[in-house]
Amino acid sequence: MDKIRLATVWLAGCSGCHMSFLDLDEWLIDLAEKVDVVYSPVGSDIKEYPENVDVVLVEGAIANEENLELIQIIRERSKFLISFGDCAVTANVPAMRNMLRGADPVLRRCYLELGDETPQLPNAPGIVPPLLAQVRPVHEVVTVDLFIPGCPPDAERIRATLEPLINGEKPQMVGREMLKFG
Ligand code: SF4
Repeated sequence: MDKIRLATVWLAGCSGCHMSFLDLDEWLIDLAEKVDVVYSPVGSDIKEYPENVDVVLVEGAIANEENLELIQIIRERSKFLISFGDCAVTANVPAMRNMLRGADPVLRRCYLELGDETPQLPNAPGIVPPLLAQVRPVHEVVTVDLFIPGCPPDAERIRATLEPLINGEKPQMVGREMLKFG
């Protein structure tokens, strides 16, 4: 039987969800026997999101144009998309700037008002992606197949989701241990 093609993606998040994924410790060895990690900031050095991904864990919200473009590609090329962690599920911390009604006040505060030396707004077209006016959770942009809440979801919750999935079963997303936010 072919191995499951697994991807993990880091959009607008702090990487804490991926750190929690690494907390799976020895179970990662069992996982590696059943999946091929075809794209991941912590498990592969492939730069372009590949075709025919079976399962993808998406950490982070949609906060800039690069996130927006990549999530469309991810959706097109993935069979089962998991919104991984509170930033993906609700937009969480990255969305705190939404109450300021646009990215401009944040950029001005950080780079002009608080800039110690040569204050200037970041401007590197093609390198630094422009921020979107509003940060959005993943499911507001593309269809999501499963949600794993938590900031971050702990390793047990990640395992309890992935283990049934790679065995062809539906994870039981019930109870506080699987659904608690934060
Ligand atoms: S959900 Fe929490 S741990 Fe995960 S990326 Fe967001 S802030 Fe970081």
